[in-house]
Amino acid sequence: MTQPITEKTLQKTVEQVVWDVKATDVHTHLYAPIFGDILLWGFNELVTYHYLIAEAMRWVDIPYDEYWQKTKVEQADLIWQTLFLENTPYSEACRGVLTTLDKLGLDVASRDIKGYREYFNDKQLDEYVDEVFELANLKTVVMTNDPFNSKERHVWLEKLKAGEQELDPRFRAALRLDMLLCSWEKSWHQLKEWGFDVTPELNGQTVGEVQRFLREWIQIMNPVYMAVSLTYDFMLPEKSAQSELIERCVIPVSREMNVPFALMVGVKRQLNPGLKDAGDGVGKMDMASLDYLCSQYPHNKFLVTLLARENQHELAVLARKFRNLMPFGCWWFLNNPSLIEEITSMRLELLGNSVILQHSDARVLDQLIYKWAHSRQLIAEILVRKYQDVMATGWVLTEAEIRQDVEKLMGGNLWSFLERKL
Ligand SMILES: [Zn+2]
Repeated sequence: MTQPITEKTLQKTVEQVVWDVKATDVHTHLYAPIFGDILLWGFNELVTYHYLIAEAMRWVDIPYDEYWQKTKVEQADLIWQTLFLENTPYSEACRGVLTTLDKLGLDVASRDIKGYREYFNDKQLDEYVDEVFELANLKTVVMTNDPFNSKERHVWLEKLKAGEQELDPRFRAALRLDMLLCSWEKSWHQLKEWGFDVTPELNGQTVGEVQRFLREWIQIMNPVYMAVSLTYDFMLPEKSAQSELIERCVIPVSREMNVPFALMVGVKRQLNPGLKDAGDGVGKMDMASLDYLCSQYPHNKFLVTLLARENQHELAVLARKFRNLMPFGCWWFLNNPSLIEEITSMRLELLGNSVILQHSDARVLDQLIYKWAHSRQLIAEILVRKYQDVMATGWVLTEAEIRQDVEKLMGGNLWSFLERKL
């Protein structure tokens, strides 16, 4: 373990450590089994992932509506036929399906869609969750939890808060604030209905009540962070309900309760509404908003991932200036090998070990298998090069040091960030 690493043992050691360290997946759309059917899994869900819908629709000549009217099985059949049989499935999303099937022990060469479906039909969800965690080698998965979603709300209030059942400790909550922050014209009505004394105007009373709502849900969910996904044109400060809610409600509660605020910025919502979930695009953001947040609130913690490739360099530079900013992952359209390679290398070069390299953004349980397999392969390759560079100077490394680096990069930095006193 403390033997110095040599040029000969470097690659094997790094690969072994990267595959060995249990990762924390800091952002997913998965749910613990207690949430029931909102946890998606299995072959049909894998193949109808919205990334694949967008790719298939470039080929098929049917109106979008006709696709949406099909059953899930018919949709999966159409995508399989289009993207896997009529074309070679090397897009990242397609390759992901194949990696998943392969890692589960299925014969990818057979192209036996019927057999794949039968395999999943025989699965028991609880056991399958164990199997997926094992194959993806994960310690913790952070969910996305929306208190405005009635199905989810019911589970939090009736089962978990009431103490009737406990949350599987491998799943941690993230209190998602999109509805509250991005649709105030609707969300204030809902808050009022739930007994919060709010008005559409953000007066002192309303601000206090929104803060009370946040504190209550932090008590209920014990979230790792509060989060929002914002469009590319997000500005702060500005004269808008969103901006005021962030500065007057989220920021103070975030600091008071030591629950970081995660911002995921850069989506162009519903660029093509016909594609529904698959219809969002990407846009560059004005980084002045993040400069402002980090400098104005130095004792608040911000977790940030940005969707535009063009914003990545500025984000890494900003993180050099502000220790209250933790960049994480290569998000959505950036989660492709060539871009992960570029962004991850740049982050290591500008920030050393002080970033969270990846998150899966998985919407389907099984995707954890491929997203982490693909990421691990790249992380190992990049780290080997970085270690080679320092070893070329005569610097001596041990396996224990490599393990310590990898643990931080694969999610350990999230937990230490939470403990920091800024
Ligand atoms: Zn997401």
